[in-house]
Amino acid sequence: MIKDLTWSYPHIADEPEGRKQIKKAEKFCEDYKKFLNIAKTERECVNVVEVMLVNAGYERFDVNRKYKAGDKVYEINRGKSIIATTFGTADLDEGIRLNGAHIDSPRLDLKPNPMIEAGELAQFKTHYYGGIRKYQWVTVPLAMHGTVVRKDGTSACICIGEDENDPVFYISDLLPHLSQKQDQRTLKDGINAEELNIIIGSMPIDLDGLKASDAKAAKEAKNQIKLNALKLLNDKYGITERDFARAEIEFVPAYKAKDVGFDRSLIGAYGHDDRVCAYPALMAELATKKPYYTTLTFLTDKEEIGSLGNTGLDSHYIYDFIEYLAQNQGVDVKDVCANSCCLSADVNSAYDPTFPDVFEEQNSSKVNHGVVLTKYTGARGKSGSSDASAEFMAKVIGIMDKAGVF
Ligand code: MN
Repeated sequence: MIKDLTWSYPHIADEPEGRKQIKKAEKFCEDYKKFLNIAKTERECVNVVEVMLVNAGYERFDVNRKYKAGDKVYEINRGKSIIATTFGTADLDEGIRLNGAHIDSPRLDLKPNPMIEAGELAQFKTHYYGGIRKYQWVTVPLAMHGTVVRKDGTSACICIGEDENDPVFYISDLLPHLSQKQDQRTLKDGINAEELNIIIGSMPIDLDGLKASDAKAAKEAKNQIKLNALKLLNDKYGITERDFARAEIEFVPAYKAKDVGFDRSLIGAYGHDDRVCAYPALMAELATKKPYYTTLTFLTDKEEIGSLGNTGLDSHYIYDFIEYLAQNQGVDVKDVCANSCCLSADVNSAYDPTFPDVFEEQNSSKVNHGVVLTKYTGARGKSGSSDASAEFMAKVIGIMDKAGVF
């Protein structure tokens, strides 16, 4: 009895049942790493996820079709958010079960008129997206991802820096001999936003490769290094400088996901936040065969910048989809919502012994101590938080306990 009075969250390796799960988790993570490598932006995520859904028998949702338990449908919002549903045996007005995560990640976006030439280097000017620590983005290899819509309405998908044979891009920093003044800055401003310029070229346009009239124009042009970069982009993608205003170009670390540690127990990768939740949510959705409650798995855009915009959760797209589901079954959407439950999944920071001061150890999540259930977030008195009720926590903890989840 006395031993049952206290509680501490077990380490997975200390539990016989937990040890059995380690092998399974490692296998699961092999595919997770592949997902991280091929889906670094929200658009890429949606494209990859759509293929996985279609291969698993999901069809585009049609409000006029009749669905039965076990049927699987999906919907895409503007190529940047995706919803997947498996119909349950219960009527929809008994509620649905939602599980969502975001698929946008912090990165460097290009400004609409991004290309400059300065000091005989061609560079892209960036505007960072989401919560980044700016000093972390210098001197690391970067890859260029994105979409450009040309004047004629066709679009080009760009991905440079991910293939072994691709070039990569860099943002420079000062060498120690020249950084005396910079060293006086605070860490936050060690690199400031306007210094996040990406080096894209150093050689002028090759006049020999051009026809006579072009060679003449190029010779008279002012910024021949910038011109060279534009020419190379035009050769490959058929785009011009003007097209950057019709584009979404994102720079992300060019690294692939790697195991970390002698024991390979951790994964180092770009975009864990929040693919670490989006991928398991998707796997759970795919594995659901004929549930009691209808599922709704949403992988959404724009969380990093406050969930705004028509592909973020502050828009109506999830609610509208639920309304279509209700309409499809002839039930009141208010009843559907009133009886529904939602897990909003996102990353949590793990206790770091190098920086113990910022954690309250007893209430911090710890590596290898299982799934994190975050009752509330927010700051300054739970401000900005959704604080889960005792009843809801009991429901979720009960489900986890029953399934042997730590
Ligand atoms: Mn997140």
